[in-house]
Amino acid sequence: VSKQFESEAAKTTFATLNANATPIIRFAASIGVALLSGLGSNLARIPLLKLVYGPSKALVAMSNKYAERNGFALRPKLRVPCNLDESMEKIIWDEVIVGSGPGAGVASSFANSAGRNYLVIERGDYVSPSTEPHGVQQMHESFAFGGQEIVITLPPTPFAQANAFGGGSEINSGLYHKLPSKTKAKWLSATGLSSDVYQKAEELVSEKLMISSQTKQDLGIYEQSPLIEVGNTLKWEGGVIPRWRTYKGNAYAHHGMVSTYFNELSDKNILTRHSVKRLRLHKEHVLIQISGQKCSHNLRARLVTLSAGTVETPKILVNSKLAKLGEFKFAFHAMVRVAAKFNRNVNDGHDIDPHQYWSEDGAFKIGAAVATPELLAATLATAGEEAPGDISRIVSYYISTPSDGKSGLVKIFGNLMPYLLPSKDYRSRLARAYKLLSDAIRKNGGEIFAPGKFSVSSVHVFGSIPLGASDVVDTLGYVRNSQKKIKVRDASLLPTHPLVNPQGPVMHLLTALELSEDEN
Ligand SMILES: Cc1cc2nc3c(=O)[nH]c(=O)nc-3n(C[C@H](O)[C@H](O)[C@H](O)COP(=O)(O)OP(=O)(O)OC[C@H]3O[C@@H](n4cnc5c(N)ncnc54)[C@H](O)[C@@H]3O)c2cc1C
Repeated sequence: VSKQFESEAAKTTFATLNANATPIIRFAASIGVALLSGLGSNLARIPLLKLVYGPSKALVAMSNKYAERNGFALRPKLRVPCNLDESMEKIIWDEVIVGSGPGAGVASSFANSAGRNYLVIERGDYVSPSTEPHGVQQMHESFAFGGQEIVITLPPTPFAQANAFGGGSEINSGLYHKLPSKTKAKWLSATGLSSDVYQKAEELVSEKLMISSQTKQDLGIYEQSPLIEVGNTLKWEGGVIPRWRTYKGNAYAHHGMVSTYFNELSDKNILTRHSVKRLRLHKEHVLIQISGQKCSHNLRARLVTLSAGTVETPKILVNSKLAKLGEFKFAFHAMVRVAAKFNRNVNDGHDIDPHQYWSEDGAFKIGAAVATPELLAATLATAGEEAPGDISRIVSYYISTPSDGKSGLVKIFGNLMPYLLPSKDYRSRLARAYKLLSDAIRKNGGEIFAPGKFSVSSVHVFGSIPLGASDVVDTLGYVRNSQKKIKVRDASLLPTHPLVNPQGPVMHLLTALELSEDEN
């Protein structure tokens, strides 16, 4: 164990863990640390309850000692101010949007064009422009629970979500997809949306996000991506995936919500570092209880739009007694990671290779996982390997497959945690996924680290309130029994797995809902 703790991954995750003090963060992070630092394969054999309640205390103690010994000093999180402009509490807002991710972006753009007086409330802070993207400092500053939440399932599956102004759109890789046609047909039938409206929504979103492509070959970093060869070996469809970015030489501008949808917002429309706790329905308005650090306030709005994400939107609804815990589901794209060494340069330590390939039946998709030195070290440590100093010949790829089984949310220490009782098919798909990807990498000259050992994680979570299948909301996403005063606008509503990276489909679906509401 102590050998594992000497790895870069352990150092970085311990530093994150040590910097956050509340018990739930330590609890969730400690499980994440266990997985990331290579204990995962052992923990996976321990019965579920022991896994949840057992190891956290000892790991926290060990990690604290380790961080202390190595003198880690991550920038502390900013303290949340208590003061609130009094006028904010006096007025009745036309609309308050909770959260500031892609769902909130769509909601704010429609609120803006309808001329409403609206406010976006975000629990996190602005993403610091001086922080290296895809690194541990960014995880500490802009990810919920330091990027170490966990799905209670087998194998235990860490996942990441944002805690920042702009939500996931500011911290993600910007890979932009439209839905595959078969999945789109399913969504249209589940939601009753027309294909014309959905197509119009796709056009609107693509235009606003400013999509373009660039590869590492274009920049002369290496001649050809191994992913192209791996994709061809599998005979899968794919290629370069465009991103919400514009490029100039080797510099780029990332177009998350802040530089696109939130262009229309002024300071008076934004309240960051405040969290919405509870809603109370009144005759003419909704009372919104919010809290900063050690202080709380009440705001009022005629319409509340919940865009707090797949886990937090249900939490607000449960705390407000507007839905029961047992009514929610949970879905994700499970990513099986494989780290491999090639005999040529394949990694410049920044950003990702934007190639992706997918199987015709939609069961699998491959792509590049972030392989910055810190995150590559974490992936290698999961396989029980230490990262060498020179990572230019090492990459980390993933193969993703949809989660499947009975799923939902449980309350632990006041927070909601997702669970999945995995189906047999899902578990055998995970093993098959690993074999497909590692065999194809090997065929193309890659040497796999720690063959046979793999971890599962996710950055794509959705579908806790699947539109058309959940009684929590109506077909337009309004919360049942809220007299159309509360609606949901985020990835919670996805009717099924999108199979591709979800932000585009999330925004298309929500835009289509708004357009059809306007039409009616
Ligand atoms: C590391 C990473 C990489 C990704 N890469 C891609 C990619 O390349 N392409 C792609 O298509 N998708 C990607 N995704 C997924 C994509 O970012 C999400 O699907 C998308 O952000 C979901 O949007 P959302 O509006 O549902 O929620 P989020 O983006 O999660 O936004 C929810 C916001 O609400 C805030 N919030 C939560 N609770 C409260 C509260 N009580 N009060 C106030 N605010 C609250 C949160 O802090 C957060 O900012 C990635 C995700 C991650 C984490």
